[in-house]
Amino acid sequence: MTSRHLLRLVSICLVTMVTSVANGRVSASPIGHPDLKAKQLAVSVRCTRRMVSTDSKQVRVPILMYHELNYLHRNSLGMAPGQFESEMEFLHQNDFHTITMEQLYAALYQQRPLPDRPILLTFDDGYKSVYTKAYPILSRYGYKGTVFMVTDAIGSRGQHPMLTWTELLEMNRRGIMDVQSHTVHHVDLRNASNVVTKQELMQSAQTLSKRLGHPVRFFCYPSGKFRVATFDFLRNSGYVLAVTEHSGYASAKDGPYTLHRIRIYEGMPLSTFRGALALSFEK
Ligand SMILES: [Zn+2]
Repeated sequence: MTSRHLLRLVSICLVTMVTSVANGRVSASPIGHPDLKAKQLAVSVRCTRRMVSTDSKQVRVPILMYHELNYLHRNSLGMAPGQFESEMEFLHQNDFHTITMEQLYAALYQQRPLPDRPILLTFDDGYKSVYTKAYPILSRYGYKGTVFMVTDAIGSRGQHPMLTWTELLEMNRRGIMDVQSHTVHHVDLRNASNVVTKQELMQSAQTLSKRLGHPVRFFCYPSGKFRVATFDFLRNSGYVLAVTEHSGYASAKDGPYTLHRIRIYEGMPLSTFRGALALSFEK
């Protein structure tokens, strides 16, 4: 690569970073709600996975963003589990194949193939409802997801019960739920000091990898907030990809630390859900 090419690449990266920071978003805090009954699970799993080799520059993958799978009054972070179930049924009927962050990374940066119509399901914070509501539904369809866990909240109870180590280990061992980092304390990385940022990134990865027995290389910004300097801390802490709350499909053009996602909200009509995935239906 010539120095002119390198200069152009750096300037593209800088523009992407600045644009992403300028678009940073804030989410509201969740409010509790009692559990809803999970439905009986009895649908056969269809396995029609076809690996499609593509140019990494052409890779565009929808990363869906979920939080708590309980209806929360006047709070968009919650969602009735029935809606989630309908969305998973839609994905299954339309031949979507769930992938992991590791598969996304390999496709974006190592020219590795992806299954046809790939999609990533992400769950922020690590609410217990991921185990009680999402896990059975994902198991039924042979689907997998990624939970971005706030490590200090593991096992905490109260209004918003969080996942326990036992639940995380079970889902992880069965290959249904990958577990990656969402910091230790859900800090605002836009304002956090360098020392705090470093601690939050490193300690959360160490805690998770030690208990789960796999490396933690993927990150989700708390409330989607970060600053450009955060990227260096991510890189130095061993993270290779980070997801934001910027809206859209994930692709290499956004850079490894500013991957876009699609927020799925309570009451979203299925037609809107389908519309958000329109790119996946293009030939
Ligand atoms: Zn969060």
